[in-house]
Amino acid sequence: METILVSACLLGDNVKYNGKNNYDERVEALKDIYDIVPICPEVFGGLSTPRVPSEIVNGSIINKEGKDVTHQFNEGAHKVMNIVNYFHIKKALLMDRSPSCGVNKIYNGKFNGTLIDGMGYTAQLLKEKGVKLYTLDNIDELINDK
Ligand code: SF4
Repeated sequence: METILVSACLLGDNVKYNGKNNYDERVEALKDIYDIVPICPEVFGGLSTPRVPSEIVNGSIINKEGKDVTHQFNEGAHKVMNIVNYFHIKKALLMDRSPSCGVNKIYNGKFNGTLIDGMGYTAQLLKEKGVKLYTLDNIDELINDK
């Protein structure tokens, strides 16, 4: 079976900043047609769970307490890229709106709950590498692309 990346929170892992997850049973069903490698770039980068939420501000990643966590996001993203290279991964299902995994939307960097068009840090690198990105909004395409 083809190996794909999936944001770990979508599989029910409690890796979100608030210690929760974004479980969706449609993601579970992907296990029947793909080999899945769960990823959480923020945990890979050494951030704890729960953690202070972060947003992208002028190209840097800043948490809500004003701490620059770009280094940790960078570290996590590069670990994900190592997995991509090792398994020759071509597809990833990511959690939209995240400063790491967001594909179409991210928060505006002002911590006021406003979404803007944009991509998360890891998602951007994956796109540049040519990995095809999916979210829950087009998970049906990922199933049909099989
Ligand atoms: Fe989920 Fe990605 Fe955030 Fe980790 S970094 S909790 S996988 S959205």
